[in-house]
Amino acid sequence: MKPRFGKHFLCEEFACPCCGLCLMDRGFMIALNQLRELAGRPIKINSGYRCVEHNAAIGGAPHSQHKLGRAADIVIAGLTLNEMFELAEQIEPFRNGGIGIYPKKGFIHVDTRGRRARWTK
Ligand SMILES: [Zn+2]
Ligand SMILES: [Zn+2]
Repeated sequence: MKPRFGKHFLCEEFACPCCGLCLMDRGFMIALNQLRELAGRPIKINSGYRCVEHNAAIGGAPHSQHKLGRAADIVIAGLTLNEMFELAEQIEPFRNGGIGIYPKKGFIHVDTRGRRARWTK
């Protein structure tokens, strides 16, 4: 059996593409499983954990929550970006954390930074 983060996700879905590291935060993964339950639809992970080198290589923010295992870029199957945003707002650690909308890339970013941040790229 492959290692999992909760009911809905495999660890490998969050692995850093360059090195395979996958040091996701437990509280973040609980929140993401709650979002998956609320959505009732599959969630695709575009980016999860990023090591320092990979984050720099793709031009990620220097203090990106992805480096701390507290963020993921996600697509919820069959929903618009606004619908994804509204669902994420209903999960307490995301509501009081970061939610970003990336219209060109077609995903939202969610994180559990512990303070509120919202943006559209
Ligand atoms: Zn890496
Ligand atoms: Zn992100």
